[in-house]
Amino acid sequence: MTETLRGVGVSHGVAIGQVRHMGTAVLEPLARQTPTEEAPREQARARQAVEAVAADLQARGNLAGGEAQAVLEAQSLMALDPELMSDVERRITVGSTAERAVYDAFASYRALLANAGDYLAGRVADLDDVRNRIVARLMGVPMPGVPDSDEPYVLIARDLAPADTALLDPTLVLGFVTEEGGPTSHSAILARALGVPAVVAMPGATRMAEGVVVAVDGSTGEILVDPSEEKQQEWRQLAAERKAALSASTGPGQTSDGYRVPLLANIGGPADVPAAVAAGAEGVGLFRTEFLFLDDSTTAPSEEAQVAAYRKVLEAFPEGRVVVRVLDAGADKPLDFMAPGDEPNPALGVRGLRSLLDHPEVMQTQLRALAKAVAGLPVYLEVMAPMVADRIDAKAFADACRTAGLSAKFGAMVEIPSAALRARSILQEVEFLSLGTNDLAQYTFAADRQVGSLARLQDSWQPALLDLIAMAATAAKATGKSCGVCGEAAADPVLACVLTGLGVTSLSMGASAIPYVRATLAKYTLAQCTRAAAAARATDTADEARAAANQVLSGE
Ligand code: PEP
Ligand code: MG
Repeated sequence: MTETLRGVGVSHGVAIGQVRHMGTAVLEPLARQTPTEEAPREQARARQAVEAVAADLQARGNLAGGEAQAVLEAQSLMALDPELMSDVERRITVGSTAERAVYDAFASYRALLANAGDYLAGRVADLDDVRNRIVARLMGVPMPGVPDSDEPYVLIARDLAPADTALLDPTLVLGFVTEEGGPTSHSAILARALGVPAVVAMPGATRMAEGVVVAVDGSTGEILVDPSEEKQQEWRQLAAERKAALSASTGPGQTSDGYRVPLLANIGGPADVPAAVAAGAEGVGLFRTEFLFLDDSTTAPSEEAQVAAYRKVLEAFPEGRVVVRVLDAGADKPLDFMAPGDEPNPALGVRGLRSLLDHPEVMQTQLRALAKAVAGLPVYLEVMAPMVADRIDAKAFADACRTAGLSAKFGAMVEIPSAALRARSILQEVEFLSLGTNDLAQYTFAADRQVGSLARLQDSWQPALLDLIAMAATAAKATGKSCGVCGEAAADPVLACVLTGLGVTSLSMGASAIPYVRATLAKYTLAQCTRAAAAARATDTADEARAAANQVLSGE
């Protein structure tokens, strides 16, 4: 029988396919004593598992090619290391089970690596992955990480971290459903970047059976488990109709009376550019440069590697505007080469600009790379700093841009309530503002954006958040400067109209949301958007704000 579930829809569209689970961390196998006569059988089990995992890693390497192949081959060799295998066999001889012996043998090898200097220490994560794979195989549980599948599937996970981006094959992932993660979580951002439907904050998502067919509506947050053929057909039809309506709207972002609001794309690197161009993005409003380095964050990226990556993006938008954010490391986006050490609460610690100010050489390298990448190109480059708290931060960033000889506009992200409250003072130092509403909501409501059960507080319609946005936009207008939104708030089509009414000057979002926002904005006049914004701010809750704005816009 079909079951209907509901979470928070965060990336539009309909996905229908079989469920595949993201493997979770491998549990520590119990340390149980096995009888001596079982040792040969356990040793054979261990050998078979090791060989199967090594062969699998090798095969995946051959398929992947390039840098990934080198990493996977190195992992395959780690698995086959003869010293490790003899340690496993020795442990089994003295009574360990195969899984416990593998677990313990890898632990002592890991300790050796971790103490062996920077390069080898950086390989610890690869070693852990090999261990997890062998132990999972021996325990008969799903492999950790991205599912192994040749068929397209709907990915189910507790949550997705930015580092998972690098591992997902966009041709196989039809959509996501996550148990955790609010509307501004990285699962949501990732889904929009891949242009796949997604639902987050769905309690019980990880209990859905592997292989069951689900239909996911990323707009409404509705999920049908085991839908009938007719129902699947009905949903496909609905999705096709929505798509057709969207493709009718093209051109630059504007209200029905011609008030221009550039619609820009949020990207994580050159790989996201084609989707942005296809969606008709007028440029890039947020280039999350740290995403380029999350898959191997043990060493700082070289200037040359950065120039190449930036140039690819900048070349794609001749005459367009590209806003690059300098590395936003820390908390949910850890970069080992900038790790601040143990912090009791990384979200409130040395992250974003704070981290760059502690590593001025990293910031200078990045700014120089940007200056080189833009040389000779007609694009309008703008550079901004994440997590600016006050005027001192803003000045430090502006000084760094000047020192690097960068002839681009430099700006500050407004992600901390203090920056919205004192936007005027920050604007004394920088040339534009960009509202990062994801973190702004997180810090305004003291609600971790990764925690699904707090989704209510991360709702971008919260009137308190709208008030802070209005403050920043008003300050920018008073100083003749621009103030865009690059947080996920911009991807909600009706909220995009409200943001326009609040005085926001551009909207940047995951490429897949652009057609929805463009089509909705084109239906209303600026005066209607302004009235909707006032009505939303006059309420007390996110739901009331949403209803009030919709009421004004529908003319009721
Ligand atoms: C934000 O916080 O709104 C933002 C755009 O930055 P990120 O989502 O990368 O933290
Ligand atoms: Mg942020």
